[in-house]
Amino acid sequence: MTSPVSTGYDFSAPSRIVFGWGRRREAGGLARSLGRRAFVVCGSRTLDSTGKLAEILQSLRDAGVEPMRAAMISSEPHVEHVDGCVSFLRQQKAGFGDLLLAIGGGSAIDLAKAAAALVAQQSKSSLRDYLDSAGDGPKISNMPLPVLAMPTTGGTGSEGTKNAVISSRDPPFKKSLRSEMMVPRVVLIDPELSVSVPPNVTAWTGMDAITQLIESCISRRSTPATQDIAVRGLELALPPRTAWGTGLPPGDLALVPVVSAFHDGSSRPAREAMAQAALLSGIALANSGLGMAHGVAAALGIHCNVPHGLACAVMLPAALRANLAVKNAGAQFLRAAIAMLGDRKMRLEPHSIKTIGAAAIELIEALLEELKIPRRLSEIGVTREQIPAIVRDSRGNSMSGNPRELSDDELTRILEDML
Ligand SMILES: [Zn+2]
Repeated sequence: MTSPVSTGYDFSAPSRIVFGWGRRREAGGLARSLGRRAFVVCGSRTLDSTGKLAEILQSLRDAGVEPMRAAMISSEPHVEHVDGCVSFLRQQKAGFGDLLLAIGGGSAIDLAKAAAALVAQQSKSSLRDYLDSAGDGPKISNMPLPVLAMPTTGGTGSEGTKNAVISSRDPPFKKSLRSEMMVPRVVLIDPELSVSVPPNVTAWTGMDAITQLIESCISRRSTPATQDIAVRGLELALPPRTAWGTGLPPGDLALVPVVSAFHDGSSRPAREAMAQAALLSGIALANSGLGMAHGVAAALGIHCNVPHGLACAVMLPAALRANLAVKNAGAQFLRAAIAMLGDRKMRLEPHSIKTIGAAAIELIEALLEELKIPRRLSEIGVTREQIPAIVRDSRGNSMSGNPRELSDDELTRILEDML
């Protein structure tokens, strides 16, 4: 494989990132830097019921920005959600001087990014036409309305990416609307907003971030910049000095941020670490692509309705095993594994990609166990009869970044072994 450095690369990221505990109070000023009217897409009823959303909207009014509620979404966005939101924006004559404020997890941010892009285009087509895989549908050519993204789940990293993942029931698919111009203009991360995220969602979104960091580090489209970002994200998500896992002396899994937040949602250091890791995972994946775990996760979402983060977590050990033996990804795999293992690496003999990689996989498996994430596909509702369709629909953009080419037969075998 040609080195990615010699072929050059692009890098996109949000123009401005504001990070800090309690900094949601700055939302008004940041919104004002983007427009005078903010269409709000919210993904959390809890934020609404606890008064946090009202507090944020008041900070907008205080800064001279008129907030208007455009959508509330509690599931992964479908074509109809986006078309509905765009139609509302058109009724309100949204345009220059307006922005979208997305507050929530990946679902809310993806919905806002897609709506902000579509409302700015000349074509009044449904999102379905833009997602047409034949490629002859309308394209994103005009600059979208600016998006201010306030992530609340510490997981998906959608605040740092240039795509919006959209599902459809009929025909069933999960596709991305993608444009360099869709990266949120400003990202405001207040990890305190994630304290009310329930334990299961904390575990799934946290594992999504970890999967994104690993897959973007070992992706065949990774670059020096994305590898460094992903490695730093892994060090934040799996701090090197925690003594746990892999047959080492009895450790304390509770020191790992995602586990700590799973058991105690109000843990500030844990929420801060995961919010940063998630942001870095989004920036890394937007510029490097992903791999097998995400490829299969999309198909598990389409056919078995498995939440994205849970699907990624279940697939991660198998994806790592499948890539462990890939020669051309060895150096990248080693970097990711060393970042995950930290000091623990020193106790492994011999220091080979095989032992270090195997220890990293063991670490992930211990983490899944602690987070009560199932290991078998049957436990998340997958049947043997669904496997051919899952294999077929795993071949999206994510799978194309996987270091190793997997034939349909091989992927079928891997999935059958996981039933
Ligand atoms: Zn993901």
